[in-house]
Amino acid sequence: MSVVVLGGGPGGYEAALVAAHLGAAVTVVDRDGLGGAAVLTDCVPSKALVSTSNSLSQIEVAGGLGVRFEGAECGHEAASADLVAVNERILDLAAAQSRDIEERLETVGVRICRGVGRLLSPVRVGMARVSMDLATGATEELDADVVLISTGATPRVMDSALPDGDRILTWQQLYALKELPKRLVVVGSGVTGAELADAYLGLGSEVVLVSSRDRVLPGEDADAATVIEDVFRRRGMQVLNRSRAAGARRVGDGVVVTLEDGREVSGSHVLLAVGSIPQTRDIGLSEAGVVLSDSGHIQVDRVSRTSVRGVYAAGDCTGVLPLASVAAMQGRIAISHALGDAVAPLNLRDVSANIFTEPEIATVGHSQRDVDEGTVDARAVMLPLSTNPRAKMQNAQDGFIKLFAANGSNTIIGGVVVAPQASELIFPVALAVQHRLTVDQVANTITVYPSMSGSIAEAARRLHSVH
Ligand SMILES: Cc1cc2nc3c(=O)[nH]c(=O)nc-3n(C[C@H](O)[C@H](O)[C@H](O)COP(=O)(O)OP(=O)(O)OC[C@H]3O[C@@H](n4cnc5c(N)ncnc54)[C@H](O)[C@@H]3O)c2cc1C
Repeated sequence: MSVVVLGGGPGGYEAALVAAHLGAAVTVVDRDGLGGAAVLTDCVPSKALVSTSNSLSQIEVAGGLGVRFEGAECGHEAASADLVAVNERILDLAAAQSRDIEERLETVGVRICRGVGRLLSPVRVGMARVSMDLATGATEELDADVVLISTGATPRVMDSALPDGDRILTWQQLYALKELPKRLVVVGSGVTGAELADAYLGLGSEVVLVSSRDRVLPGEDADAATVIEDVFRRRGMQVLNRSRAAGARRVGDGVVVTLEDGREVSGSHVLLAVGSIPQTRDIGLSEAGVVLSDSGHIQVDRVSRTSVRGVYAAGDCTGVLPLASVAAMQGRIAISHALGDAVAPLNLRDVSANIFTEPEIATVGHSQRDVDEGTVDARAVMLPLSTNPRAKMQNAQDGFIKLFAANGSNTIIGGVVVAPQASELIFPVALAVQHRLTVDQVANTITVYPSMSGSIAEAARRLHSVH
């Protein structure tokens, strides 16, 4: 069997590994570099930036724990970020990770073609090779028994705020900056906007977050979003709620963002974080009969099949859930299904997700909204982090552990953790959700004392039902 994968991000390269493992002849056609936007411009760089910002915050926290810095009143004065070094490290790290993935694919015999591909038919992919400067060169046609489209998404831009890569920026352009933005206006308070606003605040920029909704992180757990917004404000971020940006323009050495109500917000830079659009145009999809939604996403079922037999799709181009982890799972499922291996359809209910703010917000399973709207018959318990002994020792006051238990079965069906490193703490909750553990099974598991995970067991104890 021959498999052609169009796009080498997590959706594509994970699929290619599975296909090679199952004995297929695999070609990956990729335009920008293995690892895709996840590794080169989005997920990996932003998390690496957050790591630097977290390190600076730790110095501030240390001040509160009695650490003194010679010649400085507080930790914040003792340390600062050298953005050139920070960005160099990030770009090196991303490039190295991309190379690692490329080598891994080559080791298992996957053919890698740097090029721009398009579907010529359900069984043929055309490719124009690209050189390092993205000039297109020789073309080639590749026959395939199975095609996987995993072309990802690209930042949405507004006609009234066209990025110039200098002062008006998408998140993909941040790592070319040579100086820390003095005053960064972040437009959009979804996950990307919130994470990057927080990271630059931690690095020392003044930050204004322009949010069109009542609160930041709309769509997330409301209690978690409230904690984060309070922390943002307390740390000095200016959060403008119910403020929709109409456009942004360069003025002298800076930028001015115009809001729909006529107000203007000035800054040295503006970061546009107003969503993504799928890269599905002009690659022959409709011509081959692949059905797209109005938003341009490829419609797929739970085993990643498109409307055309033999053509599968995975990742951000499907709009299923824009996470690298989900893209990879969709890709693996697609190939297992296509090549006749055992396959379990994608189950979004059990996906763990994290927002890398300080503190982090991690979620899994059913949400508070599901409970409130009666989608599930369940009860919730929320324990503030401030009651946890380990959190007290670390002076971590903001956050909570929340668990949802189904009435009747008493199984844990979801949870929210707002805490430092919530991304690590959510795993026991994810295990409980995935394996339908009861509140008593979680409650009776002995945790380390003192530990943040102790609050997970304690929340489960509070959910114990005698009926
Ligand atoms: C700022 C930011 C931070 C994020 N952080 C996280 C995180 O912490 N955790 C997480 O799970 N997710 C995170 N995400 C989401 C994650 O990056 C995406 O879900 C993931 O990149 C999707 O993978 P993909 O394979 O669908 O596409 P991509 O990673 O976008 O890869 C697509 C690839 O296809 C190639 N391509 C496109 N068109 C063509 C063509 N015609 N021919 C050849 N090649 C083509 C591109 O060159 C690219 O290499 C983040 C997203 C953003 C924006």
